[in-house]
Amino acid sequence: MVLGVMLVLASCIALGGVLVSRRDVEVRRDRDRQAQHALAGTLQAEARKLEVLYEAHLLSTGELLTQIWHDPESARQLAQNIEGIQHVAWLYWKSANPEMQLNLGFPANPPLPEPTLEKEHRGIPRPRVLLEAKLLFRDVGGKSSGWIDEPGKPLMFYVQVLGTTVVMVIDRHEVEAAMTGHFKTWLTEGFQSVAKLGGPDAVQDAQGKTLCAAGSLPDRQPDILGPVISRFGVWQIVSWDERQMNATYHVPTLAGSLALAVLVAGLGIGLSAQQRRTAKLAAQRVSFVNRVSHELRTPMTNILLNLDVIEESMPDSAASRFGLVREEAGRLSRLIENVLTFSRQEEGCLKLNHGPCLPTEVVSSIVRQFEPALLRRGITLKQTHEGEKTEAVLDADALAQITANLLSNVEKYAPGAAAAVHTRQSKNEFTLTVSDEGPGIPVSEAGRIFQAFYRVDDRVQAGVSGTGLGLSIARDLAQRMGGTLKLIPSEKGASFEFRLPLEVLQNHAGPPDSTLTTA
Ligand code: ADP
Repeated sequence: MVLGVMLVLASCIALGGVLVSRRDVEVRRDRDRQAQHALAGTLQAEARKLEVLYEAHLLSTGELLTQIWHDPESARQLAQNIEGIQHVAWLYWKSANPEMQLNLGFPANPPLPEPTLEKEHRGIPRPRVLLEAKLLFRDVGGKSSGWIDEPGKPLMFYVQVLGTTVVMVIDRHEVEAAMTGHFKTWLTEGFQSVAKLGGPDAVQDAQGKTLCAAGSLPDRQPDILGPVISRFGVWQIVSWDERQMNATYHVPTLAGSLALAVLVAGLGIGLSAQQRRTAKLAAQRVSFVNRVSHELRTPMTNILLNLDVIEESMPDSAASRFGLVREEAGRLSRLIENVLTFSRQEEGCLKLNHGPCLPTEVVSSIVRQFEPALLRRGITLKQTHEGEKTEAVLDADALAQITANLLSNVEKYAPGAAAAVHTRQSKNEFTLTVSDEGPGIPVSEAGRIFQAFYRVDDRVQAGVSGTGLGLSIARDLAQRMGGTLKLIPSEKGASFEFRLPLEVLQNHAGPPDSTLTTA
């Protein structure tokens, strides 16, 4: 029991120590990303190819537009063929002609800024993007073109042919969306080399929208970003590494708790060994007393039998001395019986044997045995009976032992006093009351006199020998029989009452000719 509790405690301490000292560390494991790098390269090349193609379209459209400045409707149709053109402006080299502006988008709010060379604004003021004439007309006799991609200005592409310049304002997002659409188709083939690695990898547009993916994408930020950059937008090849939780332990905490656990377990083992040793010693003592008592019992029985035989041929002159020998032999025999019963109780092997008997006769035979001794101690004993005297099924030896233990106490503790043994038998119950008018038992001791080895420490009883086992054995036997043994209130001296419900016994009746177990 102690060992179990201590071992459980030690395991709890060890387990608690392991849990408290444990720290989980997330470890990142790099993946091979050759395929992702290769994809980034080819996607970048694809973006560049689209850019060049777009620029070529803008150039050829711009050249045509320089020639049809006077026909806004044709110019509109031409410009609308190209994705992303929002606005077209015609500017002239040192010309007095007014500029022409053509807005291709929906009416914008705020209105689109119009490219112009004018520093001053005439007419209705509109948002303007001021351009430099020396950039637009650097080769007035021939052709020039290029991007105007400056911070704070919309993206523009200009084409100048012989002093006429067409400036096209480009919507980056429109071109970016068109490129994203192209990439989506392109990636169905192009992404295969990455997809077969199982991911997690993806290609996303500038807004973080996924164009294609492999594996299940984690919620956290990607570990690797492979940007694909163009004038119109940025796309990303995103990739995540594997994460693994590694457990580490805080060594001082772990060592401390394990040491404590070992200490507690060791203490438990030590205590349990000590307990076992003590229990073994106690068992050895009980079994030694049991063996000795058993060895004494047989010669004692023989002595008592022979005394009975000798008594018949004993001359009267020696009768009183012989009576003394007989009483002492009887006392010794009872002592041996009590010690044997007690050791059987301790070993848990005491069994009762029920059989039919006359309970009043059992009590009377014990009273007869005690009569000479009581007489010698000046005790006048009165025996009375009330009710039936019929056979009942009970353990006669146990009843005899209870009666003998109670009478032995009268003999020891109430010399010179009056005593009474009263029996009562009804159909359902047998009662035995043994009372005396001796010194009695203090009320404060009443609860303890039935404990094994307990003896009242009293001057009146000083010098009276005893083991402190008589009442404890008597009560135990009474309870095993299904009855009770109590100290009952009396005006004078001590009075013990044994009650035995007979109907209960009949239910538990044993073999008719059995007796109290004798080892
Ligand atoms: P023992 O008589 O061997 O001491 P018992 O268990 O028979 O042990 O009794 C326990 C104690 O109860 C005795 O020591 C005694 O003090 C007290 N006792 C028992 N019977 C009587 C009695 N009839 N009169 C006075 N005291 C008694």
